[in-house]
Amino acid sequence: DAVEISLKDIDKLAASSFPLCMRHMLDKLRENHHLKHGGRVQFGLFLKGAGLKLEDALAFWRAEFSQKVGSERFDKEYAYNVRYNYGKEGKRTDYTPYSCQKIISATPGVGDHHGCPYRHFGSSSSAPEEAAAAAFFAASASAFFLAVSTAASASAFFLASSAMAQRRRGRSLANLIPDVMGTVGEENLRAALNKMGVNGRALEDIMDKAKNRHYQLACTMTFEATHGVSCDTGINHPNQYFSESQKVLR
Ligand code: SF4
Repeated sequence: DAVEISLKDIDKLAASSFPLCMRHMLDKLRENHHLKHGGRVQFGLFLKGAGLKLEDALAFWRAEFSQKVGSERFDKEYAYNVRYNYGKEGKRTDYTPYSCQKIISATPGVGDHHGCPYRHFGSSSSAPEEAAAAAFFAASASAFFLAVSTAASASAFFLASSAMAQRRRGRSLANLIPDVMGTVGEENLRAALNKMGVNGRALEDIMDKAKNRHYQLACTMTFEATHGVSCDTGINHPNQYFSESQKVLR
């Protein structure tokens, strides 16, 4: 029961049937006309799994990227990767879309938009730029106040910089250290869910699950809240989310 999706349907389908991770990347792609490598792979393979043909995939990425880098550069530098995802270049492997487990264990950096929003909107390593900027300003403001409020400003700067070093170490260990959703991440997730039409009690329950690191459960509950049906199998793959949604809506 392979579904085929065409270029012109992508935005409509995203609004009705894409899980939050994929909506987020589409939004960012439309906004910036660019996605970093991790996003191009995660989103590109998802679209392929959802039934987007290679020709349409090339047209889709070209339409956005050419607004940023020009179509010549797109053809030279980026088209290869699109064809690669479809097994038409390099090792010619027919790559399969990533599962939730794989996406959740990714470690996106600042400026990356891949990963699972239920986990990564809340971690300092991968929050959207606004969150990263807010964290940066908060850190520099507190370093500044620490500096002026003590006579020994040198030691204050030492403290601030060792805290920064600690944070950097934390980043590389993001997969080992359980992450706790920060305020900015929480606000981003709340806003994103609101945009999907989730609010009230359902929203609070989903936030609760995400904060307790039950990311796939949070996603399953989002599916249920937006589709008005229960999803007994639970969400374990973004393409499963998509096909379950299509089953309900068609
Ligand atoms: Fe995407 Fe899976 Fe996270 Fe849902 S749980 S947002 S489908 S990675």
